[in-house]
Amino acid sequence: MAKAAPIRESVTSINIDGSRNFLRPADVSGKFSLWRRISGALLILFYILMPWIPINGYPAIFFDIANRRFHLFGYTLAAQDMWMAFFFITGLGFTLFLVTALFGRLWCGWACPQTVFMEHVYRRVERLFEGDALKQRKLDKVSWAEPEKLIRRGGKLFVFAILSLVITNVFLAYFVSVPQLWGYILDGPLEHWDSFLFIVFSTVILFFNFTWFREQLCIFICPYGRLQSALIDDDTLVIGYDDKRGEPRGPPKREGVGDCIACNRCVQVCPTGIDIRQGLQIECIGCANCIDACNTVMDKLGRPRGLVRYDSLNGLAGKARRIIRPRLFAYLALLLLGAGVMTVAASRLKPGSMSLVRMTGAPYVVDHEGVRNQFMVRLINKRNEPVTYTLSIASEAPGMELAGFDEPLTLAPMAEEQRPLVLRQPRANYTGEANVTLKVLGEPGSFELTREVHFLGPDPKYISATPAAEAPAP
Ligand code: SF4
Ligand code: SF4
Repeated sequence: MAKAAPIRESVTSINIDGSRNFLRPADVSGKFSLWRRISGALLILFYILMPWIPINGYPAIFFDIANRRFHLFGYTLAAQDMWMAFFFITGLGFTLFLVTALFGRLWCGWACPQTVFMEHVYRRVERLFEGDALKQRKLDKVSWAEPEKLIRRGGKLFVFAILSLVITNVFLAYFVSVPQLWGYILDGPLEHWDSFLFIVFSTVILFFNFTWFREQLCIFICPYGRLQSALIDDDTLVIGYDDKRGEPRGPPKREGVGDCIACNRCVQVCPTGIDIRQGLQIECIGCANCIDACNTVMDKLGRPRGLVRYDSLNGLAGKARRIIRPRLFAYLALLLLGAGVMTVAASRLKPGSMSLVRMTGAPYVVDHEGVRNQFMVRLINKRNEPVTYTLSIASEAPGMELAGFDEPLTLAPMAEEQRPLVLRQPRANYTGEANVTLKVLGEPGSFELTREVHFLGPDPKYISATPAAEAPAP
């Protein structure tokens, strides 16, 4: 049994008997629709171009999972730099908190890929094949045996499948780069069956989402919509209906009614099927379709625009709106803290990295020459050119020598290598355990990487300059 009209107690996309009410929102034009189309087109261009635009020899955004490297606008992050992702992700989170506290669900209506692709790509194609909302509903009732349905809906589904495949490939290019993706396509699916399965799976998911699931992703799955009620307050800019001006609603010529003529145009254009006149609701994605729809109606009636508008709940209630509120300072402080750490960390990012681990087994060895500690050194070249590394001891360590890494090591672009390293101190110089600083000089660029290691050994009183017999390791 279908719903007669949207109600606050349950979502419009589910009928009273639990079946799906497939929404067919009407098209709308107006100031906000135009700006949303422009911003949507620019965002799609951004999504497509990022894997193509090279910066410092790599795509502007390239998550090179296979080699555990991430290239972001000219910066290369190795797996060791991943701690920065914490500040990046929390920074994004607090930016979203701040934007939501100020402007409500601006992200959902204007920039979320789900909305951008649904409204500006799939919905456009749907209207191209099936016509406006009324014609789409009529087509719903036509049998699949009819050529019209086969051509219109079948054609639409075919184009949807192609679009889903293209979007999946664009998405995959962020992980394997465009040349590699092109190589996969030329090699055929059997050569790279894991990537092929990923493409098939993702294409099916996208096709299902944009063909059938649609607004339900925003209503039931996306956690951000659920957070909305915690993030906004009565001073947040939201899309709302001015009921003081609009009510009581009724036909334009009736005496004593407000400005709302109960035309239901704001409901017809809503992609989540709600009635904005019932107040702010969790299903509202802030797309502003209802503003444009109502403004068009008001223009035709010669009444002022803004019966449905961007305003705060306080503003709609006729009260003053406070823009500066304590929660904004809290979100801003957390955002600046994260951004500050990120900026300092990014400015200190080195074009290479060095890690040192002590070799398993005895922590030190004492022989007739002196005390030895053994390590495994791992060097990574994060540059797009060969780099030569030279290792030396940078701290005061009398007589200490390096073995195993005494020659400069040249690493190919983005290569990494592990080498054993032995630190050896003669008996005559050994005065006990000590911290030793190792320095690697990278050329070209003359950058330095340093690491401190703890040189282990026995109590010096057990070490004589000339051994009578070799002391055993502990
Ligand atoms: S579009 Fe405007 S006038 Fe028409 S029902 Fe909605 S709020 Fe009322
Ligand atoms: S109520 Fe208005 S702004 Fe909210 S989703 Fe519906 S049409 Fe978009």
